Amino acid sequence: MMTPEQYVESLRSQQKEVYFMGDRVDNVVDHPAMRPHIHAASVTYKLGTDPEYEQLGTARSHLTGKTINRWTHIPQNQEDLVKKAQMLRVAGQITGTCFQRCVGMDALITLYTVTWDMDQKLGTNYHERFRSFLVNTQDHDYMTVGAMTDPKGDRSKRPSQQHDPDLYVRVVEKNDRGIIVRGAKMHQTGAVNSHQILVMPGMGMSPEEAEYAVSFAVPADELGIVYVFGRQVNDSRKWEGSIDQGNPVYGVVGGEALIIFEDVFVPWEQVFMCGETDFTGILVDRFASYHRQNYGACKAGNLDVLIGATTEVAEMHGVLKAGHVRDKLAEMAHLVETMYGGALACSYNCSTLESGAAFVDPLIANTSKYNTGRYYPEVTRLAQDIAGGFIATIPSEQELDNPRVSGYIRKYYKTGEHVDPVERIKMGRLIENMTGATPIVECMHGAGSPQAQRVVVQRSINWNEKKQLARNIVGKSERHQMPEAE
Ligand SMILES: Cc1cc2nc3c(=O)[nH]c(=O)nc-3n(C[C@H](O)[C@H](O)[C@H](O)COP(=O)(O)OP(=O)(O)OC[C@H]3O[C@@H](n4cnc5c(N)ncnc54)[C@H](O)[C@@H]3O)c2cc1C
Repeated sequence: MMTPEQYVESLRSQQKEVYFMGDRVDNVVDHPAMRPHIHAASVTYKLGTDPEYEQLGTARSHLTGKTINRWTHIPQNQEDLVKKAQMLRVAGQITGTCFQRCVGMDALITLYTVTWDMDQKLGTNYHERFRSFLVNTQDHDYMTVGAMTDPKGDRSKRPSQQHDPDLYVRVVEKNDRGIIVRGAKMHQTGAVNSHQILVMPGMGMSPEEAEYAVSFAVPADELGIVYVFGRQVNDSRKWEGSIDQGNPVYGVVGGEALIIFEDVFVPWEQVFMCGETDFTGILVDRFASYHRQNYGACKAGNLDVLIGATTEVAEMHGVLKAGHVRDKLAEMAHLVETMYGGALACSYNCSTLESGAAFVDPLIANTSKYNTGRYYPEVTRLAQDIAGGFIATIPSEQELDNPRVSGYIRKYYKTGEHVDPVERIKMGRLIENMTGATPIVECMHGAGSPQAQRVVVQRSINWNEKKQLARNIVGKSERHQMPEAE
């Protein structure tokens, strides 16, 4: 397993083609825009190698018997799924933001299970290939991009009906040695600081869409892969100092990038699906459930930090004892534990797939993610309510060194005899960072938009069973029998 330092160093030898704000970035490790996100991802390596977190951060590989980083582990039982959720909450508490490695973890788990299913039904040998890839990933403790979301073009049209056939990643050529792929994946978390990319189809494909039914892995610096790193609200503050960033150590959200595949060659050993459209739907559904398990846990960890910052500010403002403030803080904690409860519940209520991997309860996992999209903004609303307007109007940190106004800033931002005004400003900036646009959009759309979860919930519910439960109690009148509902 790599230590955080070894992880960061391992990125230096990569030859990725990365662009940010019009310029090519040769050194992502030391770039101010990327450094905090790399630091956040390095926490996943800390959990694997720091003895304090060993119980959560490591696992025993069921393939090699070696001790591995849990971020590369295939859950074998209920305990593994529960530990996954617990580990995510702890990582969220340490970073206060996204630590990026769970998308790749869930892609590994999903492909492990779906390649097994494909081989059983179709007689292919994808699973054996995937196991080799997985062992290599575990042995080197690689960080993997879980690349599912295509640009998608017009959402009302199928991939083959788009004005441009490249709006979903597709195979443009096959030969004896492998395949050539073209297209792009959007919003890719941790992309510029990962070691490899694991591509999956972004939706269930129909039989005539075989070219889009493709899954493969490539080294992150493979020839023909181009990265465009995204901008975030207030990211120019990363060049200006630390206080105004709010979370200068770990940044905000995952440092997403657009990944472009310019006719990239993939050898057959790295191809895990090629044309098997029947398995695309189950792949997407399974990935979604594993990934939606996470949100109630990692975001609970993040919001633990926000509750802490809000409590600090309330104390500095002398309002912590006010009944409505205590009530709002309790409401924040209640929502957070409800989110986390879902992540744990879908882990405890697991089943075992034919491949032997443990699988979360999809209905509860989707419900938990849906709640996270609703509750995270509500918790941030309450934090802003308690913190007050100053979080939107704090002067720049440069004024703390401006001899003309520095004294006034310290004088007027001091709220009590024992309050350090700079500490208050730092807490205010952290709340501003955590309650701004990017984390809220992430909670909404990361792991799928809310409607995607609603669809799974609607699909999973056995309405007839529920009707029968009611009938069992009231009995069914013969005279007023209603037609069956659809
Ligand atoms: C911060 C962040 C990190 C992310 N990280 C990753 C990552 O690491 N890997 C990855 O693969 N993806 C990642 N994603 C992508 C994420 O999974 C998508 O944003 C999500 O699936 C929604 O897709 P979209 O953004 O294209 O929105 P859209 O699909 O455009 O959805 C927008 C709205 O349109 C609705 N809609 C969409 N299609 C239809 C339709 N056909 N009919 C009716 N309504 C429709 C949706 O329900 C929603 O309300 C990330 C996203 C964010 C914001």
